[in-house]
Amino acid sequence: MRLVSYRANGAFRAGIKTDDGVVDAGPSVRELLGLRPERLGELAASGAPVDDDGLELGPPVPDPPKIVCLGLNYRDHAEEAGLTPPPEPIFFAKWANSLIGPTATIIPPSITEQVDYEVELAVVIGRRGRDITQADALDHVAGAMVFNDVSARDLQLANQLWTGGKAIDTFGPCGPHLVLMNEIEDLQALGLRTRVNGETVQDGTTADMVFGVAETIAFLSRIMTLEPGDIIATGTPAGVGMSRDPKLFLKSGDVVEVEIDGIGTLRNPVA
Ligand code: ZN
Repeated sequence: MRLVSYRANGAFRAGIKTDDGVVDAGPSVRELLGLRPERLGELAASGAPVDDDGLELGPPVPDPPKIVCLGLNYRDHAEEAGLTPPPEPIFFAKWANSLIGPTATIIPPSITEQVDYEVELAVVIGRRGRDITQADALDHVAGAMVFNDVSARDLQLANQLWTGGKAIDTFGPCGPHLVLMNEIEDLQALGLRTRVNGETVQDGTTADMVFGVAETIAFLSRIMTLEPGDIIATGTPAGVGMSRDPKLFLKSGDVVEVEIDGIGTLRNPVA
């Protein structure tokens, strides 16, 4: 089963994706995250269908309590950055201002000249928890989506905490749907890739994560309570533009696609 947010009269509303299209499911995806698939099935059967014509999908969770992003969580990406994988997960924050939907435009601010892409698997928390064990961790996950951790490298590297190059408006395309866990066999066996103007520039698998999703959730929940709607982006494999020779930064008119097998594809133009 898949959840979406869609634009209706200027605001985002929650929807459930069915074989016949999207069905309205109330004001907020966050309110659906704790529901059992059977209850969602009932909602899908009773909800009003949404007109396909001009349907604009938004970020599946437009209003997360937190967005936590892992850094250097694939060995080959750490290597290409000239760094060793960290002994414990390292993370930084983005905020909701970064989130845009699967086809919306990435709008770089005028103060950067080094806009880069990062395909990532993101999971969304469905059940609140603190000090979650690794064995219980996936029970706290509602589902997964594709995430592009768009990064301004010049601003990122000028700021030791990276946030200045990461928490930028529109620098967090995600979606296209929140794929619930009942539709995912193994989060750690998914191919993921990036194409810039149709050319493949990243091509990896979530099997290569340094810290898998369960380990990451156990680690983070020792520091902070994880809340329904929290987004955890789990890092990117090798091939980012900054590490290529010659470097490849996104420019106006480019189209960047990030995709994960079985989850979906985001296709965002750059302004
Ligand atoms: Zn990243």
